[in-house]
Amino acid sequence: MDLTREIPEINLNPIQRGGILTPEARQALIEWGDGYSVCDFCGGRLDLIQKPNIQEFIYKELPAFLGCDVARTTNGAREGIFTIMHFLKKEGKGKYALVDGNAHYTTKIAAELAGLELKFVENSGAPEYKINVEGYRKFIEEEIPAVVVLTYPDGSYGNFADAKKLAKICKEYKVPFAINGAYSVGRCPINMNEIGADFIIGSGHKSMAASGPIGVIGMTKEYADKLLKISALAKNKEVCLLGCSSRGATLLTMMASFPAVKERVKHWDKEIEKARRFSAEMESLGFKQLGEKPHSHDLMSFETPILYEISEKHKKKGFFLYQALKERGIGGIKPGKTKAIKISTYQLADEELAKVIGAFREIIGENRGLLE
Ligand SMILES: *Cc1c(COP(=O)(O)O)cnc(C)c1O
Repeated sequence: MDLTREIPEINLNPIQRGGILTPEARQALIEWGDGYSVCDFCGGRLDLIQKPNIQEFIYKELPAFLGCDVARTTNGAREGIFTIMHFLKKEGKGKYALVDGNAHYTTKIAAELAGLELKFVENSGAPEYKINVEGYRKFIEEEIPAVVVLTYPDGSYGNFADAKKLAKICKEYKVPFAINGAYSVGRCPINMNEIGADFIIGSGHKSMAASGPIGVIGMTKEYADKLLKISALAKNKEVCLLGCSSRGATLLTMMASFPAVKERVKHWDKEIEKARRFSAEMESLGFKQLGEKPHSHDLMSFETPILYEISEKHKKKGFFLYQALKERGIGGIKPGKTKAIKISTYQLADEELAKVIGAFREIIGENRGLLE
């Protein structure tokens, strides 16, 4: 069995750009790769382990970073969303989750597993697909939901809806509000208390340079007291985390990358500038950026009708693009995709982005003959 991996020189895949390990995390992966490696000095609670200092990470570093009162790690963002939904379903104050129309599929499955129905606040449609948070109000007035969720930003277009305004609406109706920050926590500055949310969710392998699977949840003290209930059956174990969540290399890679992650979010303005420049250059090639404009996130979706036209006549069909990019050291666009593509510019150097633009220009140029 060949278990080697092809790693492109430049990887444009949005789900992977924020999860590339720092050298420190790569080292930690080897050091802590053995099963249950973190348990050497465990006194019964993962989050209280002091060697390595998980306690300081979970009780000090993480809440400060998320802008929340209490934080925990989970096995992923989806597990975090599920944990929160499951708790709120049991609270019994509502029977459905009210989410934005750009929500990730895992939000839907989490609700499904938690036994919550779903209602969606639709986006504005093409080309911007924006969420107007005023749209939440109508649903809440009809029936109080168990939880309101905002995907911030969403993983299809990279749109940031007005989270602060939604927090105010939720406070007005006393509805718990969860921010899904899978694409923001670890990439850009984000602060749960400043927004006014009750919960925040992040993904370590998506946006915090961790190997994973690992996620983080943050919450207010009020919710923490109830959500993090101690088991009646197993001494000191937190029931909602099934006793222990992320354990071993998943957590230690996150901790190893954390200083670099704290630093990188400070340079978010540069990332936005870069994304906007890239978008403008893609549009000059005849592509069309979807989602908010000007854009404020590294994840961007482009309609690429020229590439689709080429694919209809090319002997490799839709796979020509993947192949042509691969020959140029560029990966991360799904094989076969040509109509619309998703790209992240996160942490790519200007020269690398220039190379990507150059590659698209060349690919269109060399297939010009197919476009007549
Ligand atoms: C990727 C993603 C998730 C799932 O993250 P995991 O950590 O893999 O569970 C959830 N929500 C959004 C918006 C995402 O982009």
